[in-house]
Amino acid sequence: MSIFRKYLEFPVIYKVAIGFVLGIIFGGVLSIAISSGIIGKEALDTYLKPWGDLLVRLLKMIVAPIILFSLIVGAASIRPSKLGKVGVKIIVYYLATSALAVTIGLIMANVFRPGVGLQLPGGAKEIAVKKAPSLVEVLLNIIPTNPFASLSNGTVLQIIFFAIVLGIALAYLMDSKNERVKQSATTAFRVVDGLAEAIYKIVRGILQYMPIGVFALIAYVVAIFGPRVLGPLAIVVIALYVGLFIHIFLVYGGILAAFKISIIDFLKGAKEAMLTAFVTRSSSGTLPVTMTVAEEKLGIKRAVYAFTLPLGATINMDGTAMYQAICTIFVANALGIPLTIGQQVAIVVTAVLASIGTAGVPGAGAIMLAMVLEAVGLPLTNPGVAAAYGMILGIDVILDMGRTMVNVTGDLVGTLIVAKTEGEIDETKAVWAKKKQ
Ligand code: ASP
Repeated sequence: MSIFRKYLEFPVIYKVAIGFVLGIIFGGVLSIAISSGIIGKEALDTYLKPWGDLLVRLLKMIVAPIILFSLIVGAASIRPSKLGKVGVKIIVYYLATSALAVTIGLIMANVFRPGVGLQLPGGAKEIAVKKAPSLVEVLLNIIPTNPFASLSNGTVLQIIFFAIVLGIALAYLMDSKNERVKQSATTAFRVVDGLAEAIYKIVRGILQYMPIGVFALIAYVVAIFGPRVLGPLAIVVIALYVGLFIHIFLVYGGILAAFKISIIDFLKGAKEAMLTAFVTRSSSGTLPVTMTVAEEKLGIKRAVYAFTLPLGATINMDGTAMYQAICTIFVANALGIPLTIGQQVAIVVTAVLASIGTAGVPGAGAIMLAMVLEAVGLPLTNPGVAAAYGMILGIDVILDMGRTMVNVTGDLVGTLIVAKTEGEIDETKAVWAKKKQ
């Protein structure tokens, strides 16, 4: 077997981890070489930095198409006839819990203050942080005046909005009684579906390059700034995991308690799906397990979960939303730009919507993070932002495991309570109900 083949077949998660560790070591060596005058910083810019830039550019390349195609497909997959009571309830739940997750993320970021003192280049003076727009402005801005301009400018929220509207329109047309309309809508859907698949294929290709890109990004940062950058990254991990823990026990625990279900009993039933999500880092990939757990352990009837769980795996990402909040603050802090409360409110809206647009596949949240950063005035074209973002990419595997686990847990909690209010529970199968009998 050729070395190249071996490389391709080796799991990406390990490759990225290896790239990250080797990058730190190599960066440490370079940092010593720079301080002793053996090599100059320009050499790094010429020979090392482009490898990292290549990854960042590849990721940026696919963001707009991935949101557009995957969201149109997602929205079009919901049968309009099913968008009844269950739909409204679950969507309200999904949005509310995601907003709570971002809020907890912001609190964590303000408590742990990740990135403070890093002082990456491109700080306060170089970025004019826009004055925080009012909530009405933020909301109005989500609606594109020209969707094609939004696509070419990469304005995420506008792309998300347009994709959802277009998807819902297609869903209605595919149900049309007019055969011609029905056929053409179905054809359009298939085309978009095919394009979405093609984009996923490209993503898998980019993931193969990820270890090299991560190696270069982290080596560059460590070489220029020294190993002191590693502490702040550890704080990001801690802030996220503490936040996720609080979200599970406080938010999910509280919601379940309101419906007389103990969080511990729930977790006992949900644990298989949670573990699968943790190791696969993919909500979509975990879906078969999530569905099995919903039916066999939590006693939820198919009529509810068959609709709410696939929807949740696509749009409900509490862990991802929290991650985006914490990482955005990390980047701002790393550049020495404190964000005002108004800007933090803007992060809530942006992160919730971005988490909706995140595909349920490993690392997708990190790609969307680039867009959240852009949306709050921290574009990747700024060298400091790119460096801080590269640092996050380096540890993204660790962050992705926790956030995906919470993404899936949130889907199950919502599905359970909606099923309970609709009387769609089979108590003989429900682990959480058995104890009381
Ligand atoms: N991996 C996450 C999921 O599948 C998405 C993300 O990267 O945030 O839910």
